[in-house]
Amino acid sequence: MNDDAPPTFTLDGEDVPFEPGETIIAAARRAGFYVPHLCWHPDFPPHGSCRICTVRVDGRAAAACTTKAAAGQEVENRTEELDAHRKTMLQMLFVEGNHFCPSCEKSGNCVLQATAYEMGMEGPHFEEFYPNRPVDASHPDILLDFNRCILCELCVRASRDVDHKNVFAIGGHGIGSHLVVNAPSGKLGDTAMALGDRAADVCPVGVILTKRRGFVIPIGERRFDRHPISAEVGDEDAR
Ligand code: SF4
Repeated sequence: MNDDAPPTFTLDGEDVPFEPGETIIAAARRAGFYVPHLCWHPDFPPHGSCRICTVRVDGRAAAACTTKAAAGQEVENRTEELDAHRKTMLQMLFVEGNHFCPSCEKSGNCVLQATAYEMGMEGPHFEEFYPNRPVDASHPDILLDFNRCILCELCVRASRDVDHKNVFAIGGHGIGSHLVVNAPSGKLGDTAMALGDRAADVCPVGVILTKRRGFVIPIGERRFDRHPISAEVGDEDAR
């Protein structure tokens, strides 16, 4: 046995080396394995809210984004059972908001849509909520379409921790949780948000959109139109 060899765990039977302190999802990704996720992003600390990355670690369900890798762990990831749970969670997300993919500027570049395709989701299954969420077009360069928010908090984290502007927050509780803009008017146009901010390009779905750039790349020729999200390991979070 080579004492210098990194410790490993198995992911769906394949050996995955890891560095001490590394999470399962980070090690898996580095080794070229796709663990489905929405709220996790390599540039930000784990958030652990979407639960799409739930795997089985030695038989017990655990979030791959917050669970540290350990030597000898047996991790199940892309099993029929886990992907079926993921599909159900995605279907719940789809009906909770208003996700009309054919008319969405993010279609083909959307991590939610691409993950749903990856899980074999063909329809919403549950009854749609059709919430009333008006768009915010008050900013000169950025449009906010709240209808598509999946509450991943990436924009909250990016604006707070990278841009140091605190433009976004999550308000309400439970089913009433929603994205809010931190301005007395509640309007993005009354904040310091700028097009070059990290928060402006981190949204995995079609909420935070740059104005006057819509459909520059036609639908059908976009990232996830060309290949499934699982084929982009290491790059699937490049929004
Ligand atoms: S606006 Fe986008 S980045 Fe922000 S919480 Fe909603 S889905 Fe996540």
